Amino acid sequence: MSTAHRQVPADTHRVLILGAGYAGMAAATQLAARTRRADVQVTVVNAQERFTERLRLHMTATGQRLAELDISELLAGTGAQFVRGWVTAVDAHAKTVRVDDSRVLRYDTLVYALGSVTDTAAVPGVEEHAYSLDGPSGATTLADRLARLGAGTVVVVGSGLTGIEAAAEIAERHPEVGVTLVGQQDPGASMNPKARAYLRAALTRLGVQVITGAAVTRVRPDAVELAGAETVAADIVLWTGGTRVAPLAAAAGLTVDERGRVVTDSALRSVSHPEVYAIGDAAAIRQGYGVLHGTCQSGMPTGVHAAVSIARALRGRQPRPFRFGYYHTPVSLGRNDAVVQFTRPDDSPRRGCLTGRMAVWYKETVSASPWPTYRRMSRLPSSGAFWPRGGRFTRLRDAR
Ligand SMILES: Cc1cc2nc3c(=O)[nH]c(=O)nc-3n(C[C@H](O)[C@H](O)[C@H](O)COP(=O)(O)OP(=O)(O)OC[C@H]3O[C@@H](n4cnc5c(N)ncnc54)[C@H](O)[C@@H]3O)c2cc1C
Repeated sequence: MSTAHRQVPADTHRVLILGAGYAGMAAATQLAARTRRADVQVTVVNAQERFTERLRLHMTATGQRLAELDISELLAGTGAQFVRGWVTAVDAHAKTVRVDDSRVLRYDTLVYALGSVTDTAAVPGVEEHAYSLDGPSGATTLADRLARLGAGTVVVVGSGLTGIEAAAEIAERHPEVGVTLVGQQDPGASMNPKARAYLRAALTRLGVQVITGAAVTRVRPDAVELAGAETVAADIVLWTGGTRVAPLAAAAGLTVDERGRVVTDSALRSVSHPEVYAIGDAAAIRQGYGVLHGTCQSGMPTGVHAAVSIARALRGRQPRPFRFGYYHTPVSLGRNDAVVQFTRPDDSPRRGCLTGRMAVWYKETVSASPWPTYRRMSRLPSSGAFWPRGGRFTRLRDAR
């Protein structure tokens, strides 16, 4: 049940966390546990009461039921309040946030964690004719349509990890359906040759046809058009080609990058508004090897680090720089197969990889871990403060 934003004494420091996804929940549980003080109020705003397991949306899209993970139930007793609602504006000058266009919430410190969504605007026809994996309702609608399809054709656009996982899952759950994966790059292009070959063989075994080097230029109700005038017939199109972020940060006057993500300093504070921390997919966070790309793997540590920094600042101490090194790329290939590419901190592939049953177990362990981690952190915050810092890969040459 949503909790109203109650009146607080004037000397209370209000921390408002926008978004209760992988990063926002990490920040909320950490911060609540580290600031059990009467003069600090932590409030989390999220569109849904139920936590969206984005990592598993391809399972929802194929009719598999996921656990009911209730955000307010997890936060109950931690000291953090939950407000269910849609953030419609941030006023960085007045330090207020508008929710559902009607309520106004004030903050002293803001944590911006609104994530990203599939970019459905880049190619004509996507918005009107394609499905995407952004939330449970869209994924459930796709599952219903797939269940009624029979021996039809599905085109999954985007040969990145989301597209691969979705194509494999659909092919496994609906063997009567013809599944085609269309994208620019080879599936598993960022993996080492062994992992890539394993992934391709698994897609072949599942009957997924792969078209690479292809740019989709339009989605029609019955097909996708490729550059060069070729078309691929499709009863259903699932679009996984790229992500975009909400325009709220840019509209608020925060410094954003060319993709609209909040540009942060090394401590994850907005470079233009230091009372705003930005984490997860919504933030442009630079490391020695480049700007983090959106993953849960890096998103959760950004949430923990922001919370630790805010707790330090409230005690009058300076925040420390955030450092993170990637360590793996786990990819499911249906429910019975998977491949895990171990990586260097800059996300380039190492020689080591897991395949088959071990990889299935590994991937499931990773996907299932966030919720128990939040629960544990809300009691024992230091338990969530471990992740690879990336060594020489994450030392900034020109630290801000
Ligand atoms: C199908 C799929 C599979 C993936 N698999 C993996 C994987 O295996 N490994 C991996 O590391 N990453 C994976 N990712 C990427 C990963 O899900 C994201 O990087 C991660 O969710 C980012 O976390 P976040 O907290 O920044 O954003 P999110 O998890 O998206 O959370 C943002 C939250 O903010 C809420 N919100 C957004 N706008 C508003 C608003 N205006 N008002 C109120 N609430 C709002 C959303 O409802 C959501 O609850 C996958 C993504 C997809 C789509």
